[in-house]
Amino acid sequence: MIEADQGLTGRRLAPGERFQFACGPDLACFNACCRDKRLPLLPYDLLRLRRALNLPSAQILEQFAELETDPISGWPALRIRLSEDGACPFVSPAGCRVYAHRPACCRVYPLARAVRPGAAGGPPQEVFLLQDAPGCLGWSEPRELSVERWIQDQGLAEYQAANNYALRLFMHPRRTGKVALNQAQTHAFISALYNLEVFRQAAAQEGFASRWGLAPERLAQARGSEEELLRLGVDWLAGVLFGGG
Ligand code: SF4
Ligand code: SF4
Repeated sequence: MIEADQGLTGRRLAPGERFQFACGPDLACFNACCRDKRLPLLPYDLLRLRRALNLPSAQILEQFAELETDPISGWPALRIRLSEDGACPFVSPAGCRVYAHRPACCRVYPLARAVRPGAAGGPPQEVFLLQDAPGCLGWSEPRELSVERWIQDQGLAEYQAANNYALRLFMHPRRTGKVALNQAQTHAFISALYNLEVFRQAAAQEGFASRWGLAPERLAQARGSEEELLRLGVDWLAGVLFGGG
């Protein structure tokens, strides 16, 4: 899973390697990076955009997202729908209108994070790339950073935790290479990961937990936390697609 465009190019950072970067409205390139990009929307990104926009998921999906098929997995993939002039729909002269809830790809930029499951159930293994970012003046700023500092500065930890949880689905042991989903599976995929209002209704139906082998207390937890509802959606979808979590 890559929290940036799959087609990105750049240099892999060595463990512990530091880099020099700063970004801000005083730079001549301010906002230039918020256009002409393929901006992936991962499930937790959608959850946070709902908070920023205070709109139903269905409306955000219709108005601001486009559905594609990931060329590597064959699974649905969502991206921000750019305006006709190539700009992100959330950019304004003053900056990002959804800044506090901006997607992971925007937070991690100009880095990119690629992750894969850890060995024997250990923590996920991750690598960071310095993306090729033509025209970005931030590289010339005299501020030295570690990856850990950048993650903290950009509020990435909760995004990475959610994305790491979703790995159990995207890298499920019963998943074999590139497999397209059928219509019903695609509907389940979008509902569980990107339309929590629909999934919440499904999870509230009588017998849901026992039918899918989910612990009943998780339903109660999910009623009080959208983050937990999304984790429940990941595990339910694993059951739908693979017959078990
Ligand atoms: S182009 Fe680089 S420095 Fe300029 S606003 Fe974007 S990320 Fe910041
Ligand atoms: S969501 Fe915000 S930070 Fe990301 S591309 Fe759009 S305007 Fe820029």
